[in-house]
Amino acid sequence: MAFVAPAGTPLQLTEILAGLMHGARSSEPARALLAQLMKLSATDFAWSLSSGRAAMVVALRTMRRLDQTRTQVVMPGYTCYSVAAAAQRAGLQPVLCDVDPRTLSPDPDCLRRMDLSQVLVIVSSNLYGIPNESAELERIATQHGVFLLDDAAQALGATVAGRAVGSFGDVGLFSFDKGKNIPTMQGGALVARRGPLVAALEQQWSELPAANARDTIMYSAKLAAYAVLLRPRWYGLVRSIPGLGLGQTPYELDYPVTRYSQVLAGFGARLATRVDAINLQRIENARKLRAALQGVSTVQLIEPPVDARPVYLRFPILAATAALRDRLIAALEAAAIGATASYPRALADVPEVRARLPEGAADTPGAREVAERIVTLPTHAYSPPDMAARVRDIVLRVASD
Ligand SMILES: *Cc1c(COP(=O)(O)O)cnc(C)c1O
Repeated sequence: MAFVAPAGTPLQLTEILAGLMHGARSSEPARALLAQLMKLSATDFAWSLSSGRAAMVVALRTMRRLDQTRTQVVMPGYTCYSVAAAAQRAGLQPVLCDVDPRTLSPDPDCLRRMDLSQVLVIVSSNLYGIPNESAELERIATQHGVFLLDDAAQALGATVAGRAVGSFGDVGLFSFDKGKNIPTMQGGALVARRGPLVAALEQQWSELPAANARDTIMYSAKLAAYAVLLRPRWYGLVRSIPGLGLGQTPYELDYPVTRYSQVLAGFGARLATRVDAINLQRIENARKLRAALQGVSTVQLIEPPVDARPVYLRFPILAATAALRDRLIAALEAAAIGATASYPRALADVPEVRARLPEGAADTPGAREVAERIVTLPTHAYSPPDMAARVRDIVLRVASD
């Protein structure tokens, strides 16, 4: 049965092949991609790396080298586990800031109450392409002399008051992993304006090894498979195969930290030229979902900050209760719509993170609430035109059961 994948970007095999060939032949394809990222984010410097998490490790290590007295990383209580794992790899301690369930942003009030004296850097999240309260995070970081790493792994093209997400604070991060805005299966980047980090980042990056050629071949093959398997017909078949681990969230420490594959960058540079079109499609699908679910009492919509332009990598909603959330996902999946519970736990409930938190750290009830109630809905171009109406019917039916 055809099935709408939870996330992804439709890709043509011909554009993949052309992009990879371009990458293999031209001398520095990553440069073209980085130029696009700098333009999109109005930044002056950019570096490409083997993944978003590798980029985060390099950024954190660089900050650590510049300030050896502070050893903590403040991160949102609900975000990608890779953020906490990258802090561990950089030898830094995680500290959690609670998340506001209404916006999914790290709660600025929580940051203001926190003791930031040992904090090296605050990391944002901008999950599902929805901007955080970025200006506020930037203000707090500046006030306390703390770095801000603007994690735009899911938010390439999103803006707040006309400023690109990824351009707030000292350094921004993008990812080119499979569920992200421009997927090349693997890859990531850092961007920065002129500032204290630039020379040190350049130094760290220049010491990294080149991408592994065997990995590049594997990811090129996976890219072609991804383009086919994302199609609803094929996705329906594939998801029924057990053991593929689709959509799982591991806490992973062992991954390469290298430069980005030039071959994959060739394709990434091509995709970056149509990121606006990709985002507009997702924004339109999100608009339909919002309109269909507005006023339905059993689900809560997320309210982006005023002035924000989200790009909706996915469309998140919160079900009224955890039990309703589970039934809702089951019903949507039965209707062949790829709804997910996103990250299954708040970071405070991930054993590897919990073990490393400071003694007596404040709880993050907002993050836990999000983990229990969230449902993400697909927004990609393979979403059928009647999907929003079908989602609404399913939500109403499940609530009345
Ligand atoms: C995906 C993601 C990362 C890490 O990017 P990878 O390229 O998958 O390593 C970091 N932060 C957030 C919020 C992410 O969604």
